[in-house]
Amino acid sequence: MSDEVKRRTKNAKWLDEAVEYWSSRIYEGDLGCDWSEGDKVCWNCGYCRSLQRCHIVPKSLGGEASASNTVALCAQCHDIAPDVSDPSEIWSWIKSNRIGKSGLYNTYWYEEAIAESGVDLSKVSADRLNALVSECGVHVGQLTGRARLKVSTLAWALRKAAANV
Ligand SMILES: [Zn+2]
Repeated sequence: MSDEVKRRTKNAKWLDEAVEYWSSRIYEGDLGCDWSEGDKVCWNCGYCRSLQRCHIVPKSLGGEASASNTVALCAQCHDIAPDVSDPSEIWSWIKSNRIGKSGLYNTYWYEEAIAESGVDLSKVSADRLNALVSECGVHVGQLTGRARLKVSTLAWALRKAAANV
């Protein structure tokens, strides 16, 4: 286990309670993480990041601040998670995000960008891609850590790198 994975969101009683509650109810193969790492890794994308408390049913729609109404997501996933009154939707959304993914750690956003770019990876030079991404202020290698690179930005770099080979 890497140092990244050992890092843990601080003061996270809500997180321990949510993992305990959901780990016996939701199959981990449908998630971006194993339950053993559910207090360190985003349940959707599987990246080891600071985790946010995401209400399954939003507070604005009457959702409670209980473990049964909580999932742990990174900020990037929290931004795009569904805000609906149907509590099953969050699990459908998380499960649907496994489709077409390798299931490897720290590849989720990269795979999203590849899909968005429509690029044939065999036409992409890794050196060129790294150079392009560096111009965006974040190195591809840093994608394995906490750095956030927008999918649209990485998709742009992939298309540009593919066009240059
Ligand atoms: Zn995430």
